Amino acid sequence: MPRLSRVLSLFSIGLVGAVATGSIAVSAPAVAPQVPDPYYPMDGNVGYDVQHYDIHDTYRFGDGHLSGTTTVTLVPSVRLTSFNLDLLLAVDSVLVDGVEAEFDKPNKHELTVTPPGALPAGTPVEVTVAYQGVPADLDWNGESNWLADDREVVLMNEPHMAAWWFPSNDHPSDKATYDIRVTTAAGREVISNGVRVGRTVDGDQATTHWRMAQPMTTYLAFFAAGDFAIESGRAHGIRYYNAVSEQLGASETKSNLDLMRQSARITAWLQDELGDYPFATTGGVVTGLDVGFALENQSRPTYPANMPLTIVVHEIAHQWFGDSVSVARWRDIWINEGFASYMEWRWREVQGGATTNRTLRDYYSYYKDVRGFWRLNIANPGPALHNLFNTAVYDRGAMTLAALRNKIGRADFRRLLRRWVDVNRADNATSEQFEAMAETVSGKELDRFFQVWLRADGVPPNKDRFGL
Ligand SMILES: [Zn+2]
Repeated sequence: MPRLSRVLSLFSIGLVGAVATGSIAVSAPAVAPQVPDPYYPMDGNVGYDVQHYDIHDTYRFGDGHLSGTTTVTLVPSVRLTSFNLDLLLAVDSVLVDGVEAEFDKPNKHELTVTPPGALPAGTPVEVTVAYQGVPADLDWNGESNWLADDREVVLMNEPHMAAWWFPSNDHPSDKATYDIRVTTAAGREVISNGVRVGRTVDGDQATTHWRMAQPMTTYLAFFAAGDFAIESGRAHGIRYYNAVSEQLGASETKSNLDLMRQSARITAWLQDELGDYPFATTGGVVTGLDVGFALENQSRPTYPANMPLTIVVHEIAHQWFGDSVSVARWRDIWINEGFASYMEWRWREVQGGATTNRTLRDYYSYYKDVRGFWRLNIANPGPALHNLFNTAVYDRGAMTLAALRNKIGRADFRRLLRRWVDVNRADNATSEQFEAMAETVSGKELDRFFQVWLRADGVPPNKDRFGL
């Protein structure tokens, strides 16, 4: 999640004015009778399930031009005479199983493909799209998400990033595996998700190939390219690959590599807390570009320079909460952000810092008179980005979990988190499913508890305040 830098140091900078000002009502989509998500009606498409993305992009530093060919392996869930993909770039050609298909861009965001013959349900097809453009010039719904300068590019955003660099079914509910190949100047490094398969040099160009073999949602796919200091290996039983921009200068490059070296240790600690790490490698990328947030790109989060260690804990906790267990709908965002924020509290506690209950009480004292903080329904905050990523989604979410731990007891709470990531591994889930599992694991009726903590407009009443 874009964790906004303004919320990083809640107590040190004391931002009373930066919290929610109110929730917004979400009206039914006017676009189509069936869309994957009413928050963003143009995101994603119905009628098929993507299995795999084979992306090969070529990126040119200097003018920022990107061209590419992506083969999307998908299985129609119904007989399809045409279907849509999401892509902002201009399209040159589309093949379906190697045969030229008609295509149209009815608007900036959509690519409509009409294959020569109808596609039967249940039979996989390969859709190959060739495209090009200057992603920095592209915007959608007021978002201009491409982040680059003459020496470096890093793709990191949520909920929208994929449409700037490959065609996709752009919604978390359709997860797939990935091969990602990026060709660029041979002097630059290219970092992406998962395992680095190899690199081939052809004249002054090099192609670096990465593979994510576990299902991944579209917004968590990324690459970074530029001048990076790299460290890779194995620590705490886990493979890692870290990269820090050399644009930061020698001293900061070194201190940020030191920070990234903590990734393997934190991954191992989270594994003890939550159960097996969901992916084959860990690590992180620190960009030299000016970005106000970190993002939990799958297996390899991206960070601005000089983050506190707790932000690394937050982003790696997302590998379980958000990346492996992904939101079924964007309204469920607190099951990503509340949980990752809670794990920061838990980390401090086991490191001998403030206990989780101390932090819960401190947050309560801080927020109790902040009207807007309690007004937002964090289990349905609304699609505006200042609501989806509102401070309350993070902090009220973490408070909910800390209070729940008191309410059901530490042993049941630990069982609950471990069961949650186990049952929903590599899948999607909703807030309601978590609430139901909390009741099953604890044997307690928790409707009212979740109502006052997640949804009610107001401070939780005394008896629910700390779950005690
Ligand atoms: Zn987050």
